[in-house]
Amino acid sequence: MGQGENFGYVSPFDANAILQIPLSRRVVQDVIVWSFAKRGKYTVRSGYFVAKQLRKDELSNEESSKQGIMGSLWSRLWKATIPNKIKIFSWRACLDILPTQDNLMRRRVLASARCCFCQQETESVLHVLWSYGASQDVWAGSVGRFQKLGTAQNDFLQLVSDLMVKLSSEEWNLFWVICWQLWYQRNTVIHGGVFQHPSSLAKRAVDYLKEYSNAQDTLRVSDPIHVPAQQTWQPPQGSVFKLNFDGACFDDGAASGYGAVIRNEKGEVMAAIAEWGGAV
Ligand SMILES: [Zn+2]
Repeated sequence: MGQGENFGYVSPFDANAILQIPLSRRVVQDVIVWSFAKRGKYTVRSGYFVAKQLRKDELSNEESSKQGIMGSLWSRLWKATIPNKIKIFSWRACLDILPTQDNLMRRRVLASARCCFCQQETESVLHVLWSYGASQDVWAGSVGRFQKLGTAQNDFLQLVSDLMVKLSSEEWNLFWVICWQLWYQRNTVIHGGVFQHPSSLAKRAVDYLKEYSNAQDTLRVSDPIHVPAQQTWQPPQGSVFKLNFDGACFDDGAASGYGAVIRNEKGEVMAAIAEWGGAV
């Protein structure tokens, strides 16, 4: 095949790469070789093996980029000035382990993943906390820039990764308080409660944050001598890690959850988990 000929099915990039292949000095007949098999001959078995390996590499790349996002998300979340219970809720939302209809169906608890309110879409974390109409009304009525961020995201983690870089600290705190309230409201309505007016929910989130921040200021000026030493977390000494964990049961054992965090001698988080443990 000469350089000027038409390569047909080969892209110009590949054609150029092919032309770079050094040719054998001996005059030998061209043969087709499948380099993934010992004898150079393609078999379905070897093709399947290569396809499986490629898929595995692809998944591990996706996994490591996801772990990178989770690491920075975790640290940003833990620095937020919001109550710990909201941080834990937020982390569960990011890990996609909130008991949404979607997750309950995946765990074979429910037969349908459909949202109880709109009866149209799957109730994912993204749906209930962000894209669902009633939730969007709340975001539109809040003081942050949330409504400008659109609803094009495919999953909640993608949304949160976008928000993490776009929002100020105050907006970031407010975002999580509103998410928490939306989840609380969703549970209340499922159990016979009523929807709050979107603007009153948004306003309550702002008031809640103000109260929390004022309470933190009051705590900060109190005398540290009265805080018993054993109640203050201390990092481990030397090259060891410290594991702290806790678990809880809800609704008389109908649900449970646990969380753990491993930190190094500088108090830096090395690994963490928060899981929904099901019925006990
Ligand atoms: Zn819905």
